[in-house]
Amino acid sequence: PQARPVQQPGAKRPEHVRRLVAVASGKGGVGKSTVAVNLAAALARQGLRTGFLDADVYGPSGPRMLGVDGEPAFLEGKIEPLEAWGLKVMSIGFMVDEGRAMIWRGPMATSAVRQMLHDVRWGTAEAPLDVLVLDLPPGTGDIQLELVQKQKLDGVVVVSTPQEISLIDVRRAVSMYQKTGARILGLVENMAYFPDPATGTPIPIFGAGGAAAEAERLDVPLLAEIPIDVALRQACDDGRPLVATAPDSAPSKAFRAMAQAV
Ligand code: ADP
Repeated sequence: PQARPVQQPGAKRPEHVRRLVAVASGKGGVGKSTVAVNLAAALARQGLRTGFLDADVYGPSGPRMLGVDGEPAFLEGKIEPLEAWGLKVMSIGFMVDEGRAMIWRGPMATSAVRQMLHDVRWGTAEAPLDVLVLDLPPGTGDIQLELVQKQKLDGVVVVSTPQEISLIDVRRAVSMYQKTGARILGLVENMAYFPDPATGTPIPIFGAGGAAAEAERLDVPLLAEIPIDVALRQACDDGRPLVATAPDSAPSKAFRAMAQAV
């Protein structure tokens, strides 16, 4: 029988971090990093001291999406996070070249994530971090298991597109997190629709209502419906969170409402 993933006694948050919130997905390419970056930026805009940890060790997109890169300094036994858009940022991408294949065995990958949680100066006694947003790798592998078992996760946001193929994996992911007692804060439906450029009428490219129905079935809130948006895609590619640069756009409004809810 499969071992039941339960949070182990002694699980802890990183030092001087008040809340640890993970952004997860069943599949890759559904916009998990996009949601994580904009959620973090929206929390920072609320005046919360916010960190962003890119734990997607197989495809770290944090540096590119936040337009930040460099070699973090090592000071007094801790790694100093970089800063961008009012966020403290750490990514495995700061340590390896973009474009180089990342070949990690499970234990190495989990150890890298553990280090980024606990060996980085996220906050201090005088200025603790209010919330640390974790961009997880997709799926339910070693890293996610390590997190739910050995770290004190306060909540998980799960991102999906409306497509059934994406929602099937959401069920798997939600079931793993729920078994461990990690609280599912809710689902985010990304690429929910495309507003017709002429009329604004929502065109359901990937189907409609899938995530809402799934949220109801799983008895978790639907936190946001993010449209397919060219400016959002462009902002990701240019290294700036849309929430910070176009706060009144439709996607940004959805991200901001979501930040209020988590
Ligand atoms: P994941 O982290 O799930 O792999 P990403 O956040 O990297 O997915 O998104 C994949 C690609 O889709 C990125 O290039 C991103 O800019 C784009 N993208 C994500 N969400 C949207 C959206 N709502 N509208 C337009 N493009 C999007």
